[in-house]
Amino acid sequence: MRIRVLGSAAGGGFPQWNCGCPNCRGVRTETIKATARTQESVAISADGERWFLLNASPEIRQQLESFPPLHPKRPRHSPVEAIVLTNGDLDHCLGLLSLRESHPLTVYATERVRRGFSEANVLYRTLERFADQVTWRTLKIGSEDALTDDLTIEAVPVPGKPPIHLEGRFAPDPEDNVGVRVREIRTGKILAYFSSVGGVSPAVQRAVTDADCVFFDGTFWSEDELPKLGLGDKRARDMAHAPLGGVEGSLATLGALRARRRILIHLNNTNPLLRDDSPERADVAARGWDVAYDGLEVML
Ligand SMILES: [Zn+2]
Ligand SMILES: [Zn+2]
Repeated sequence: MRIRVLGSAAGGGFPQWNCGCPNCRGVRTETIKATARTQESVAISADGERWFLLNASPEIRQQLESFPPLHPKRPRHSPVEAIVLTNGDLDHCLGLLSLRESHPLTVYATERVRRGFSEANVLYRTLERFADQVTWRTLKIGSEDALTDDLTIEAVPVPGKPPIHLEGRFAPDPEDNVGVRVREIRTGKILAYFSSVGGVSPAVQRAVTDADCVFFDGTFWSEDELPKLGLGDKRARDMAHAPLGGVEGSLATLGALRARRRILIHLNNTNPLLRDDSPERADVAARGWDVAYDGLEVML
């Protein structure tokens, strides 16, 4: 299985358009050791021909262009076989609306995420220009389904919440936020993709334990990262992202994993891990974790 990181930042990207935090300022002025990143999306393929996108970021056009295997091979064509949405946050699904050029799309999502995106959304009509423009395939928690003849997918419920624009409309539900396990049938290799994790529940722990490659929520290093920088009063867990650091952080909770590749993704622009020379970066490296960047590839 070939895995290509198209985007590695959390919502807002790095730098974020309205952010003047030390990281965003530093990457703009090239005064820190850090690289800009687009919002989270990953492409995977077993055969190098048919590709699946994990999440559709607002930067999808640039991301598809950035990777030649995703370019069309005929006058009207896309190697993107389907798109998997892990939750309904806009940084994960807004890109779907940018794929409106009359191309049939297949989208895997839980029923909750499908409803949250398509119901009462006047912009969704752009994906209803012709019959079957979008084929939704339901991700059912706990069932392993075929993506192709060589890949399967299984959705795992992850502590989370409905997207901000649906808070108050939708009561929280276990299907609001999922991680996925993608298994390559030929080799038995498993990718565990958990880019948005509000807490390391037993189901999350089980799902990553036997994986060969783990992508995990790297949004925040600490619980009070935003308030400390004067960026509002929301704490990491208010935003359904367990912080990585500290004795109760997700890295400590996850403990030792079998996976040969362990990669943190969905990094918020405030995260000290974005600085290549930060002590936090050295800490995660010592624990065997890499920090995702746009263009990173893994062969499983
Ligand atoms: Zn996000
Ligand atoms: Zn910032």
